[in-house]
Amino acid sequence: MQNFISEQNLNVLLEQLIKSGKRVVAPRVNSGTPLYEPLSASGEMDLKELPRRSAKEAFFPVCEDILSYEKVGLNVKLSDVDPARFPETVLVGVRPCDAAAIPVLDAVFSWDYKDQFYLERRRKTTIVGLACTSSDDACFCSGVGLSPSTTKGSDLFLTPLEGGGYVCETYSQKGEDLVSNYKELFVDTTSAKPLPLAEVRTETFDLKKVKAWLDNNFENSYWDGIAISCVGCGACAFVCPACHCFDIVDEGAEKKGQRRKSWDACGFWKFTHHASGHNPRDLQPKRYRNRIMHKFKYYDDKFSQTLCTGCGRCIRVCPVGIDIATIVEEISHK
Ligand code: SF4
Ligand code: SF4
Repeated sequence: MQNFISEQNLNVLLEQLIKSGKRVVAPRVNSGTPLYEPLSASGEMDLKELPRRSAKEAFFPVCEDILSYEKVGLNVKLSDVDPARFPETVLVGVRPCDAAAIPVLDAVFSWDYKDQFYLERRRKTTIVGLACTSSDDACFCSGVGLSPSTTKGSDLFLTPLEGGGYVCETYSQKGEDLVSNYKELFVDTTSAKPLPLAEVRTETFDLKKVKAWLDNNFENSYWDGIAISCVGCGACAFVCPACHCFDIVDEGAEKKGQRRKSWDACGFWKFTHHASGHNPRDLQPKRYRNRIMHKFKYYDDKFSQTLCTGCGRCIRVCPVGIDIATIVEEISHK
């Protein structure tokens, strides 16, 4: 279904959603940095730039309690966090590379173990995607089969119009419900034209060829060369919409504390450090190899999907200038 909404009515929609008690998460500038964050008023939304971190944290927070414990006399009292308390959420202004990563994450969080923390938030969230009309030289979504107007992962998708306002297309029941619940804010027709979409770098890699090379080159001196400068900071994983490794730790004192789930990164040397002292990924090139293997081989083997949407964030943040698109392109031409 296609409709149109003016800029002003989009703000009214956000205000009404906030007033109804829903959590509305959208790009918002916090201390100069655009991030996906809960809004307290529609005017806080700022759609100009790609947020610095991805939208995955609406489902998979950086750190969250999963239970708390308390020692009472000789007994230990455990209290689970109940995912049923997570609020209904509308995630607005989600860039195509972020929205497309969410169905990719669904595969791993609902695989052998069903992660109720992720799945309950996912069930309660409506995703309003936004076509990209601006980009930078790190964006390479087209290289991984996506584009600035990919609607994958969006329940409702907005395309900006010349002079303001948006084309709205629905892609799921959640999207249709959102439009029909606020139908007075949408109109059927407009004479305004969509703004031109962003231009992204045109990589020439072929993901099938990349996979074929990775299948046969776990041991190859190429890995030593590309990761020689990687400092293992983990920034690439933390900004990525598709990386999803986490650790579970108990934090607290003898009598009480919490069990917490926190983001982790395969670039960290401790990630595979065994209690025995042995580390099968003892050198940084082995860790960086795992990053590429996981994204372009292992996830494909397991779920027939690529664990990269070409958002370019890891390229922008890497302190030593490692460019994953260039690496994948090199592998493709081997
Ligand atoms: S690997 Fe890099 S470019 Fe690909 S989705 Fe993650 S952050 Fe974006
Ligand atoms: S951001 Fe760069 S230096 Fe840091 S772990 Fe990733 S590739 Fe290595």
